[in-house]
Amino acid sequence: MVLSCPHCQSMKIVKRDVAKRMGGLLGTVGGAASGAAKAMEGAQVGSRVGLVAFGPMGATLGGFAGALLGGLLGATTGGVAGAKLGEVIDAQVLHNCECLHCGHRFSDPNADEAFDPGVFRA
Ligand SMILES: [Zn+2]
Repeated sequence: MVLSCPHCQSMKIVKRDVAKRMGGLLGTVGGAASGAAKAMEGAQVGSRVGLVAFGPMGATLGGFAGALLGGLLGATTGGVAGAKLGEVIDAQVLHNCECLHCGHRFSDPNADEAFDPGVFRA
């Protein structure tokens, strides 16, 4: 479905996606932070497994591998969750669509189909 401006009916509409971009960024940072905790866990598990399997050298390698996996996993999940949340905020709270013709800002009328707006409105 093509969007048109409710004010001047122009088809030149852009999506601003402000919260989505912010959410993705914040989610990645937050996810990396929580991923750091997971990385410590992963490092401990990895070094223990590595020690049993390959001795002291294996412990070091296992620790690195575990930390890397834990950190990456946290950052990725955080980023995705943040972007998803931002998408909801864009659609429900901010006027995500902007008319290039008259500058009118409005909410995407199709966004309500994907999410239940009742959850986000008081
Ligand atoms: Zn317009």
